[in-house]
Amino acid sequence: MEIVLSGIRPTGDLHLGNYFGALRNFVKMQDDYKCNFFVADYHSLTTHPHPEDLRINVKKILSQYIASGLDPEKSTIYVQSDVPEVCELYMLMNMNAYIGELERTASFKEKARQNPDNVNAGLLTYAVLMACDILIQKADKVPVGKDQEQHLEMTCRFARRFNNIYGVEYFKEPKAFSFSKDLIKVPGLDGTGKMGKSTNNGIYLIDEDKDIRKKVMKAVTDSGPTEPNQAKPEVIQNLFTLMDLVSDRSTIEHFENAWNDCSIRYGDLKKQLAEDIIRTVAPIREHIKDIYNDDAYLERVAREGAEKARVQAAKTVKEVRQIIGFK
Ligand code: AMP
Repeated sequence: MEIVLSGIRPTGDLHLGNYFGALRNFVKMQDDYKCNFFVADYHSLTTHPHPEDLRINVKKILSQYIASGLDPEKSTIYVQSDVPEVCELYMLMNMNAYIGELERTASFKEKARQNPDNVNAGLLTYAVLMACDILIQKADKVPVGKDQEQHLEMTCRFARRFNNIYGVEYFKEPKAFSFSKDLIKVPGLDGTGKMGKSTNNGIYLIDEDKDIRKKVMKAVTDSGPTEPNQAKPEVIQNLFTLMDLVSDRSTIEHFENAWNDCSIRYGDLKKQLAEDIIRTVAPIREHIKDIYNDDAYLERVAREGAEKARVQAAKTVKEVRQIIGFK
């Protein structure tokens, strides 16, 4: 079975974009691949989170992913810092990563521009640590968004370079996992663009029913269709795109018809959309609360996940040490 690996940044709560754009695909993948999902807490240190915030964010992410369907029985779910072997590999691989190529990485340049006072070495070598996350587990496939494609290319380069330096065929080059037709863009509620954490236009898996209703009722619309069967402007199409994800066929048809014959009332559409979103979110939210409050369960999941992940990690580091010449 092919090995798939995905890292999750512990940077706050998950929204419907994360759920429909990534998580649902991860959940399906679990039956066809040997999946590794880890919370990338070492990576998050580049921004110096407060220790208590870091702890809470790791816990949040674990509980939100598990409540959404990641299954510790099927997949290896772990916290990156519980597998310290990756630090040794990271140090060793840093010897073969050149300053020039690291400085040219798009995400490094962007972060350095955004935070000129915190251009630290960890930020510079972010791509090396990410390569090690992948290579240490011998992953075949990595689901990557557009922003991570360059990091995956660098992973392949570091793997090839290691093999070349030591004259071995040790690391294999991981491939991008493409969801192709399953990849959707979940729009935000502010009319344009996609739902995102930093844009304050999202519905979160932990939102209460009343908050969901409030957010949907406030979604941006226009003054309504003026002639039958006209194309929908983006703000309206976005609401229909959200409906496609959460509503029944008959509901969608009802509002499509109402749009086409100009009888649509956005208030009705929003009320229905809110209830349908609640139908998806409410059970997940309740599950999140149960898991989040069950420290013993979360600790067991993290411990057992780390135990599984450390088996391959220790093997890789041992073999790399031998190849390098440490006896
Ligand atoms: P982020 O936490 O924003 O980096 O998002 C993590 C992953 O969730 C991304 O790599 C995407 O796969 C997915 N994602 C986030 N926002 C959206 C969205 N609005 N539509 C579809 N997928 C999304």
